[in-house]
Amino acid sequence: MSNTVTVIGGGFAGCEAALQLAKRGVKVRLYEMKPRRFSPAHKSEALCELVCSNSFKAARIESAAGLLKAEMELLGSVCVRCAKLTAVPAGGALAVDRDLFSAAVTAAVEAEPNITVIREECTAIPREGVAIVAAGPLASEALSEDIARLCGAPLSFFDAAAPIVTAESIDFTRAFTQSRYEKGGDDYVNCPMNKEEYELFYKELVSAERVILHDFEKDGVYEGCMPIEVMAARGENTIRFGPMKPVGLRDPATGRRPWAVLQLRKENAAGTLYNLVGFQTNLKFGEQQRVFSLIPALKNAEFVRWGVMHRNTFLKSPGLLTPAFHMTERPDIFFAGQITGVEGYMESAASGILAGINAANRVLGRPEFILPPTSMMGALSRYIADETVKDFQPMGAAMGLLPAPEERIRDKKSRYAALAARALEDVRQYAAAAEG
Ligand SMILES: Cc1cc2nc3c(=O)[nH]c(=O)nc-3n(C[C@H](O)[C@H](O)[C@H](O)COP(=O)(O)OP(=O)(O)OC[C@H]3O[C@@H](n4cnc5c(N)ncnc54)[C@H](O)[C@@H]3O)c2cc1C
Repeated sequence: MSNTVTVIGGGFAGCEAALQLAKRGVKVRLYEMKPRRFSPAHKSEALCELVCSNSFKAARIESAAGLLKAEMELLGSVCVRCAKLTAVPAGGALAVDRDLFSAAVTAAVEAEPNITVIREECTAIPREGVAIVAAGPLASEALSEDIARLCGAPLSFFDAAAPIVTAESIDFTRAFTQSRYEKGGDDYVNCPMNKEEYELFYKELVSAERVILHDFEKDGVYEGCMPIEVMAARGENTIRFGPMKPVGLRDPATGRRPWAVLQLRKENAAGTLYNLVGFQTNLKFGEQQRVFSLIPALKNAEFVRWGVMHRNTFLKSPGLLTPAFHMTERPDIFFAGQITGVEGYMESAASGILAGINAANRVLGRPEFILPPTSMMGALSRYIADETVKDFQPMGAAMGLLPAPEERIRDKKSRYAALAARALEDVRQYAAAAEG
């Protein structure tokens, strides 16, 4: 087997993957199409460009985003190192000067003798040798077509994601489990509303503030998957006859059919997360919190993912990829970054670290490196490969992805601190065992 790995895409995932390979002595050909071609969102010639916000979210390790970064640091993340070097004041968040950050990552990649950066579009995935596809949510058209050919299935080009809440934050005194007409067991959690509650919710939903889409996101976003607020604007009863229809349901608290119902469906096998069925939305995040919390069972809901509708090329990864980020059927072909169905700068970088380590292990004949589900990186890598997830949509770091601590801790802050301590200890042990 050739000792050179092809990495396609010099963004968050590609740079991390290339450096993990290089430091294990594996030679890398890193293809980046900029500056010859730019996606509609990329503007700079540098590698690892931030296309939007300059924040890498919370810094403290008792938060999901902070824990993710701390785990990545243990595995030698170039993105976390460069982010700390180029940080700007941002309260509790880790935010960066975007130009200095990208310049620092570019310098680190270019200084690595095992990496050759090739500034060309890669239009096809090499069918021989080990390759990592890290071409991002705006992968070039030719490459996207080749990915679809290789995977035997079309890619998803838009997120149409409904929000997700943690199971423990649902008020079960105001919700009941039941499937419509009692078919399918207790698969759904129903959040009922009476007429007054619905009318207030409806009024706020249709008047809430929406996100302004980029021009390149406007075409096709709504095909076959309409945001709940757009459907609601068609008439006061439209969603009561659509995703919020109460038919076939009886609220045990009243013995009657509710006026309207939001159904929640399990998002992961562990049952710690639920999505709001049919609630794909384009509302601003703060508005989602405000409006959806008007549903009584969600009054104190903790949202771990907001609904989004934007351009985003990603694979239906469950069944197609393993938690080691290679194709189930083709262990030489790896995917990394947003294209795998992780969501966010650092989540993409984290998947690049894992894909890079595993691609190196493949070349060097070493065993796979899969972190335990108690770690944020391990939980995300399992999420993208979890075949029990029905409507697969991208996922960012969330405490709700981690299994509960061994002992019950009621206070949320203390519970998150315990989860973070356990995760970091586990990553340390796994990393040491893999190196040793
Ligand atoms: C409009 C928009 C706004 C976003 N805002 C945010 C945000 O605020 N916060 C956040 O956390 N995440 C945001 N994201 C998600 C963000 O893109 C990812 O978090 C992150 O950049 C993904 O990392 P990646 O390595 O997978 O892809 P990227 O960082 O996009 O890197 C992919 C690289 O591959 C190159 N490439 C593509 N095709 C080819 C090819 N055929 N040959 C060679 N090179 C190729 C591209 O030029 C690019 O440099 C946003 C995404 C979009 C599209």
